[in-house]
Amino acid sequence: MNPNTLVPEYIHRIAPYQPGKPISDVARELGMHEADIIKLASNENPLGPSPKAVAAIERAIADLALYPDGGGFALKEVIVRRFGVAMDQVILGNGSNDILELVARTFLCPGTSAVYSQHAFAVYPLATTAVGATGIEVPARDYGNDLDALLAAVRADTRVVFLANPNNPTGTFVDGDAIKDFARRVPENVLVVMDEAYMEYLSPEHAYDSAPWLAEFPNLIISRTLSKAYGLAGLRVGFGLASKDIVALMNRVRQPFNVNHLAMVAAAAALEDTEFIERGRRVNAEGLAYLSAAFAQRGIAYIPPFGNFITFRINNAKAVFESLLRQGVIVRPIAGYGLPDWLRVSVGTAAQNTRFIASLDQALA
Ligand SMILES: *Cc1c(COP(=O)(O)O)cnc(C)c1O
Repeated sequence: MNPNTLVPEYIHRIAPYQPGKPISDVARELGMHEADIIKLASNENPLGPSPKAVAAIERAIADLALYPDGGGFALKEVIVRRFGVAMDQVILGNGSNDILELVARTFLCPGTSAVYSQHAFAVYPLATTAVGATGIEVPARDYGNDLDALLAAVRADTRVVFLANPNNPTGTFVDGDAIKDFARRVPENVLVVMDEAYMEYLSPEHAYDSAPWLAEFPNLIISRTLSKAYGLAGLRVGFGLASKDIVALMNRVRQPFNVNHLAMVAAAAALEDTEFIERGRRVNAEGLAYLSAAFAQRGIAYIPPFGNFITFRINNAKAVFESLLRQGVIVRPIAGYGLPDWLRVSVGTAAQNTRFIASLDQALA
């Protein structure tokens, strides 16, 4: 029996997601202590989780024998208050990856297409290919979303445009006004998925609130995550905001208990912890300033960053990545994103950032 002959041909075309290397892998492979290794590879929060989320989990542990609330009422209530949408405009996800996949599984199939940028988040092509739809990759402009080109790439069979702002892995940003104008110009029978994973890190001058646009554009889907600024990547929780009709369709495909109980109580608490988000933004801004200056001083090119990471160009990126690993610093190679001469480093604590730069100097020496 050859299982390869049993799957649709598009399953063979999927390039599996390459996650950041876990600390435990590096410790095992290089014989190091986990405590001596820092991971700046997955844009995780160096401050850890919101303490309010941790306290909420401690209170909820006694309920673990029960199924979670499949409707996610308590968490949705917090989201509704925060974003000014109705309960039936919210869908919860096992990470925002789940939201992106639900979009694909609900709206895409063989014979349809999805549009996204070159150097965009790997999950867009993955989710598209996994349901047999065609991915249309549009050349980037200055490593980021080229809105005019994305619009021009929309075809008659296009159902979805995926758009991350800020973008990962390149960290580029497009002004909120331009994004809104884009939403206005996309044909109304094409969904626009605005992936706002790094929204909380935008400075007040760049920050924008897209939730009110839902009233204007019924084809909009906003995706948010608790994995980055809220520090809950290990729990897997995110959510989508859209029209009630879109949410109802996605709910048909959603697993009944797709978000676990601890993730929901932690997310509800974290969303209320504005102080934690403020501190995270401040620490991140300081880290970005430090790292940008350090790259500039060394003549290392980098893409102006808007998230909680910086993408920089380096000769022999693979060798530098491996040298950093041997020094206990995990960063992210992004050759798989069409950027073989670049590495991506997540902003850490001040001490982690300093250690990364010292290790980079060592790697380049
Ligand atoms: C990190 C990230 C996400 C978040 O994924 P989760 O499944 O919520 O952890 C989504 N989109 C982009 C662009 C990201 O970088």
